[in-house]
Amino acid sequence: MKKLTELLSGDEPANLALTERDAVAKTLSAASSLKVYPQSSCGGKGVLYAMGRSGIEKTVLRLSSANDGTAVKVGGKDMFMQKLPCNHETAVKLRAEASFLAPKLVGTATSGGCGDRLGIATPGHIQAIIGTGVVPYLAQQSIREMERTRRTPDQVMDCATFGVLEAGWVGGFGSDADHLKKPENVDYTMAAGFTMFTIDPGDHVDNDADKLPEADLRTKMSALPWDGLETSAKETLSRYSGKKIDVAGLDLTFSEEDILRAAVKYGKAVNHTVMMYRYIKGKGKPFELEMSVDETDSPTTTLEHYYFASELRRLGAEWIGLAPRFIGRFEKGVDYIGDIPAFEKAYIEHCKVAEAFGNYKLSIHSGSDKFSIYPICAKHAKGRVHLKTAGTSYLEALRTVACVNEPLFLEILAFAIGRYEEDKKSYHVSADLAKVIRPEACKHLNAPDILDQFDTRQAFHVTFGSVLTADDGKRFKTAIMQTLREHEEKHYEIIAKHMRKHFAPLAG
Ligand SMILES: [Zn+2]
Repeated sequence: MKKLTELLSGDEPANLALTERDAVAKTLSAASSLKVYPQSSCGGKGVLYAMGRSGIEKTVLRLSSANDGTAVKVGGKDMFMQKLPCNHETAVKLRAEASFLAPKLVGTATSGGCGDRLGIATPGHIQAIIGTGVVPYLAQQSIREMERTRRTPDQVMDCATFGVLEAGWVGGFGSDADHLKKPENVDYTMAAGFTMFTIDPGDHVDNDADKLPEADLRTKMSALPWDGLETSAKETLSRYSGKKIDVAGLDLTFSEEDILRAAVKYGKAVNHTVMMYRYIKGKGKPFELEMSVDETDSPTTTLEHYYFASELRRLGAEWIGLAPRFIGRFEKGVDYIGDIPAFEKAYIEHCKVAEAFGNYKLSIHSGSDKFSIYPICAKHAKGRVHLKTAGTSYLEALRTVACVNEPLFLEILAFAIGRYEEDKKSYHVSADLAKVIRPEACKHLNAPDILDQFDTRQAFHVTFGSVLTADDGKRFKTAIMQTLREHEEKHYEIIAKHMRKHFAPLAG
């Protein structure tokens, strides 16, 4: 934190000192006729930024010594203030001139993915992350989520920028264009400024490989895309088969059958991932890469992880994170379901493979609400962990709605019940529709607590797209946004409380 004079003359972004910020917020509020968020005052390189609101409408304030705005005396200094609407043009301008308002490369620092399907949770995410040392990925959305919510990469990025400014967060943040399957997904998200790309080669994973007889495996092995893999079946077998490999102190041995199964299962995925990696690299912009195979049918074994990483490394790919499909069930919005000691054993082995190939992060997808495994991840990853969450913030937004606008919440519940069977199809969930709490039963319950009931939580989780786009957003989204904006402190508090339970166990 810096005093105004130091802040303006400094190159590094900083927050305004606590001793000055309330007085500055008061001055700016009076000059702009807005209610300025005191914590939003921050800046550097001659510019002071702040965020103000009038009703539920927000406006960026930009002050400098250049004579292009309203003259204001701030902290004894003559400055000129511009009022900028929270639109795409302003967001682009802010990112271009202030590095802390644009995403950065995060590398292998401990990090947390904060997907935000409504685009207004960022200040809550920041409250959760402050003091943990965990780097937040604030602009994070998968192609599937954007399709379901009818949002664009620009909107996701802009919401993160404005949320960061409102919170006065100068610590930097990452962006994650999540679950990209095709080159055009890269173009689409890179144009909006995304710098981390999560490649999902899941469509190219051959899930049958786990069960096929050897003869079929050999047929499939010979048909792999060997040109793209820049090797041959024979070379691949001799590279791994029968070799005892020391992986950071863990001995791995591939039998011929093991390598056949691993190559048939993941060979095409390696080929696809390398194609995507080279495509992104060819754009010539700074970027970082994560690879995810978390949505495959069966867990990724240690040997398969080794094969996948080793082949990608041989082909020159570089990445900061990899998401295996871990053992047990990572269902949406609820705690880990499975054998925890078995998870720990497998997790340790995955950590060793990651250590052997550049010590990248293991990325925990569908990572929200998995409270029983965070201590294990923190213990063994030694900081090399990325915890990815998305839908849980939407659920906590609904909890806020339940607190302050119960009739709206009950209408959403009734609608979600009607949509669940259809919407659950592309998700890992096991909620039983019959057990989802009915709106009429809510009379006897505390509405916010309904979000803690397993089946009801999952029903809300998978129906977000249908809820938010019903009647083009007019049915629920407008009212949800209005409610959350009118009660934003409560919303941020609920988000922060919930997300802190995710990030605090990963800290230091
Ligand atoms: Zn995932």
